[in-house]
Amino acid sequence: MALRVEQDIFLIRQRGREVAAAVGLEHQDQVRLATALSEVARDLLHAAAGADVAFGAVFEAVDGRHHLRVDLAPVRPLPDGWYEPRSGAVARLVDTLSVVGSEGDTVVRMSRRIPANAQALTPERLAELRAELGQVVPGSALDELATQNAQLIAALDEVRSQRDELAVLNAELEETNRGVMALYTQLSEELEETNRGVVALYAELDEKSAQLRAASESKSRFLANVSHELRAPVTAIIGLGRLLTDSASDPLTAAQSEQIGLIRSSATDLLTLVNDLLDLAKAESGRIEPDWAEVDLRVVFGQLRGTLRALSARPEVELVVEEPPTPAVVVSDEVLLAQVLRNLLHNGLKFTERGEVRMRAERLGDRWRLTVADTGAGIPAELQERIFEEFYQVPGNTRVRGTGLGLPYARRLVTLLGGTLELTSEPGRGSTFTVTLPVERA
Ligand code: ADP
Repeated sequence: MALRVEQDIFLIRQRGREVAAAVGLEHQDQVRLATALSEVARDLLHAAAGADVAFGAVFEAVDGRHHLRVDLAPVRPLPDGWYEPRSGAVARLVDTLSVVGSEGDTVVRMSRRIPANAQALTPERLAELRAELGQVVPGSALDELATQNAQLIAALDEVRSQRDELAVLNAELEETNRGVMALYTQLSEELEETNRGVVALYAELDEKSAQLRAASESKSRFLANVSHELRAPVTAIIGLGRLLTDSASDPLTAAQSEQIGLIRSSATDLLTLVNDLLDLAKAESGRIEPDWAEVDLRVVFGQLRGTLRALSARPEVELVVEEPPTPAVVVSDEVLLAQVLRNLLHNGLKFTERGEVRMRAERLGDRWRLTVADTGAGIPAELQERIFEEFYQVPGNTRVRGTGLGLPYARRLVTLLGGTLELTSEPGRGSTFTVTLPVERA
């Protein structure tokens, strides 16, 4: 097409739209291309007295698609540096808009990609399009002006409806934002509240445990002091009692002798209690430091077998101390361990009428399991933990003398040695106390 006079601009615009529609550009793109074309045409008419306009469909390997290309070859050479895309807005209407050299000439070239859903542009299809377009009678400039106006109105309409849509969307977004902010605020407030609660709870816990520790320490201190102070006078009473009944002393009447015997036995009980209390208080206050060494369980078992056999006065009860399996070595404190086992054996013998009290050792991986089992009265399930409390004695067992301090002390010692002391018992059948100790020092 030739662009020589003002009117041609309208025709070129109209043609541009028709070609764009023929190759399958969407309606919006048709208008865009036509608009860009008329703008560039107007510029060229003024700057170069017109141009020859050619439409083409070219295949671009880059995106594997056809592009509609319009070349406007100016009639006269363009002034230097003329076409810096004059208006960014025009360039945005198409995919490319630039001044290029083509076969020795300079042309203004614009292009727009043809969408994938358009009919394929085979050579036959192109011939068909050329024929179709050739038949179209160009309208007048007025017709094109009317079309242009209609398109402008449609475009304005669309802009307005898009703006309205955007306003609605914005309002919705703002609403959502407000909701999210409110939720966020609420959540952070709740979190803060919870945090404050947890902090307060921890403070209270700390305070309580400090109080507990202080109470326990003062109890131990009190026990230690009192028992220590009591030991001297009680020992004195026992000594004086012995002196009074000594053959070298003045003779006593039978009644006096009996009374002094009672005083001595009571004082001996008292001394046992005082000693037990002192031991327990020492263990509780952490003043007992185990003397760690390799202990041979066969030696400990042997000594206990010897000393306790004398205690088992009843012929109906047999004391069985089994030989531990070798190597029977454990890293522990020999004196404390022997004290625990002696205590358990002693209890077994005290609370068993007939049958046996049996001690055995068993190696389980990195632990030793030492058990003292008897065939005595047993302990009801609900009292099995209570007997580890200080001074607790199972009701009905009062016939046998004791302080109720042996088991709590034994458990303390076992804990110090890095182990545990547990009880299983069935009333009427007997009890089994189990000491579990690590083979190596924990
Ligand atoms: P004590 O023997 O001086 O009373 P312990 O702390 O050693 O104190 O034991 C607490 C109580 O547990 C005992 O008074 C007794 O009632 C019960 N008990 C301990 N060992 C046995 C056992 N082998 N069989 C039955 N009862 C037992």
